[in-house]
Amino acid sequence: KPRVLSGIQPTADSFHLGNYLGAVRNWVAMQETHDAFYCVVDLHAITAGHDPETLRKRTRISAAQLLAVGLDPDRCTLFVQSHVPEHAQLAWVMGCITGFGEASRMTQFKDKSSRQGAERASVGLFTYPVLQAADILLYQADQVPVGEDQRQHLELTRDLAQRFNGQFGATFTVPAAYIVKETAKITDLQDPTAKMSKSSSSPAGIIDLLEDPARSAKKIRSAVTDTGREIRFDPENKPGISNLLGIYSALAGRSVSDLEAEYEGRGYGDLKKDLAEVVVEFVRPIQERTATYLGDLAQLDKLLAVGAEKARSISATTLRTVYQRIGFLAPA
Ligand code: ATP
Ligand code: MG
Repeated sequence: KPRVLSGIQPTADSFHLGNYLGAVRNWVAMQETHDAFYCVVDLHAITAGHDPETLRKRTRISAAQLLAVGLDPDRCTLFVQSHVPEHAQLAWVMGCITGFGEASRMTQFKDKSSRQGAERASVGLFTYPVLQAADILLYQADQVPVGEDQRQHLELTRDLAQRFNGQFGATFTVPAAYIVKETAKITDLQDPTAKMSKSSSSPAGIIDLLEDPARSAKKIRSAVTDTGREIRFDPENKPGISNLLGIYSALAGRSVSDLEAEYEGRGYGDLKKDLAEVVVEFVRPIQERTATYLGDLAQLDKLLAVGAEKARSISATTLRTVYQRIGFLAPA
């Protein structure tokens, strides 16, 4: 089976629809077809300022949500990044073969650091893509299921893998991004050209899986749509309606053209009202299951410990090879 690795940051009290449709939904599908490794990336979550107790809480909520949407610890390896020390260790090595200019071209850093004020942005935020490369390369992943916003980071990961292999001998699998076009970029409901994001969307622009469903329904009903009345998938000219159609299609398992036909001659209000119901029905069981997993923290923590053990059996092997290739003296 091909190997797959992906991660998600515990930077909010809930995942949003973009996280689910762009990435996590594919994680669930890929546990059947791939040797799958998924992690809650808490090391990444401290790059932009955080509160310790909140981080601990969100790490567990993230794991519980992943289980609630369908990850099965018997069919995949689910773990917390900081439980596996090799991530930070390999990141140092990869950082030493990354060019400063190369890292400076990463648009996520430019976006996030300009939001914080460039002077205040941390070095950790700057080297975030290097740590991400280490996450992926440690497991010799063939594929990485992510949203469109991660494409550039994946390119860097591939470049670093090839560079290391060229300099020190074949060591890493060169991974490919796995991006499902239809749901690669779910956009902000209030700003349909920007991506829905934990850190930058306004509350009205983001649908959280764990928020009150009545609130989600209201947000969908007041989503920004374009002037005109036609319900047609056309991201260029009708980004708002196209985003809603994309979400609808993915959640209801119906093709966009099927939906276009159904809503022909009807108003935006009809579409929004129906989509609101689809979303409410979708999140309800997820919320229930998440609460169940969070109701037994000892069990949840144990399951994550087992995941970390499984992850380490792979990551430790890769790191040992890397240290040897790079010329570190093995401890006697
Ligand atoms: P932040 O704003 O703090 O970076 P985020 O919303 O981007 O948070 P991440 O934890 O960074 O969430 O990303 C987890 C996964 O979700 C990644 O694979 C990312 O590509 C995907 N993703 C995030 N936002 C969207 C979106 N709007 N549409 C599709 N996929 C998305
Ligand atoms: Mg992100």
